[in-house]
Amino acid sequence: MVKRKMIYEGKAKQIFSTDQDDQVIVHFKDDATAFNGQKKGQITGKGKINNKISNFFFELLEEKGIKTHLIKELNERDSMVKKVDIILVEVVMRNIVAGSLSKRIGIEEGVVLDKPVLEYYYKDDNLGDPLINNFHIEVLELATGSDLEKINEMAFKINKILKEFLDKREIDLVDFKLEFGYTGDGEIVLADEISPDTCRFWDSNTKEKLDKDRFRRDLGDVESAYKEMLKRIIGKGEL
Ligand code: UDP
Repeated sequence: MVKRKMIYEGKAKQIFSTDQDDQVIVHFKDDATAFNGQKKGQITGKGKINNKISNFFFELLEEKGIKTHLIKELNERDSMVKKVDIILVEVVMRNIVAGSLSKRIGIEEGVVLDKPVLEYYYKDDNLGDPLINNFHIEVLELATGSDLEKINEMAFKINKILKEFLDKREIDLVDFKLEFGYTGDGEIVLADEISPDTCRFWDSNTKEKLDKDRFRRDLGDVESAYKEMLKRIIGKGEL
């Protein structure tokens, strides 16, 4: 499959058209941003690690009945995926209080929630991705009520599958962000990525942060945290 031209460049990924209308190639970069693009940097080797981790999770989820955009990994940084219309809602699932939730509801980071909390954010950089609810989503025509029900169901199932997998590897799945899209056939599939860029992972014993918070909060050892997550997930820390 030939990369035709870049049709979109995001903060951490580039999207290329291919010779097939319904397929695109995702290229994972080492670029990292935080705080709505205000903080910029590079995490050496991140693109390769995120491509690998995200594909691993998407394959695991497919095996358990979750439809995803993934077609196949092409090389270290590129994957072939179904072309989708991204639903402009970032779906965040939380098991443990951290980040913006801690500030919003005044509960300290690390408190385990009695049950998972699902949130929606409007995917709009100009507005700073504000928190929204199901009424906003319907009024803004981002998704219909029934599509949203389907997304919720998928998100809770994904949480259960990932949590179970990571628990065994002594990783706490604190929270994560999901994006969904419509394929050409109108099917809702999981899209974007699931990686240390989009999840909070804590070592279950030491509570050490093994995700993008090391970059956001200048904690150091960013590259080694991503490698450690790769090792916990696929069994080896090198590619
Ligand atoms: N997240 C993300 N992209 C965003 C915002 C959040 O992937 O644009 C992820 C983030 O990595 C974390 C979860 O969603 O795993 C919840 O993030 P939170 O709302 O606490 O925001 P933050 O404190 O990271 O700004």
